[in-house]
Amino acid sequence: MSDCIFCKIINGDFGTDFVYENEFAVVFKDINPKADTHLLVVPKKHIESLNEVQDKSLLGELMVTVKAVTEKLNIKSYRTVINTGKDAGQEVFHLHIHILAGEIKL
Ligand code: AMP
Ligand code: ZN
Repeated sequence: MSDCIFCKIINGDFGTDFVYENEFAVVFKDINPKADTHLLVVPKKHIESLNEVQDKSLLGELMVTVKAVTEKLNIKSYRTVINTGKDAGQEVFHLHIHILAGEIKL
């Protein structure tokens, strides 16, 4: 989607470093970290939120991506968060999973 910030990041428009990437998702650092380590797992396909997911297998792939990136970074203990909808604090309407580790300030 042309006016979606995460689609632009996936497209390489800002030169964002990807901590991890596979066929389904990219992982990059949150610009406003709420923990010592704060990563975002973002599907390459534009989907507004969990409410709009139709391909259930994608959800498995995203969790596999969480496991892969935490293993890669040797993070053993972490919190995952998905904000769904404005009232729940979703600010970017492109599905993403937060990974928070270390001291968490949420
Ligand atoms: P949410 O509130 O769940 O929609 O989370 C959106 C997250 O995206 C927030 O934690 C923001 O700090 C983060 N964010 C917004 N813009 C960028 C960006 N350009 N690069 C990295 N993270 C971003
Ligand atoms: Zn998008």
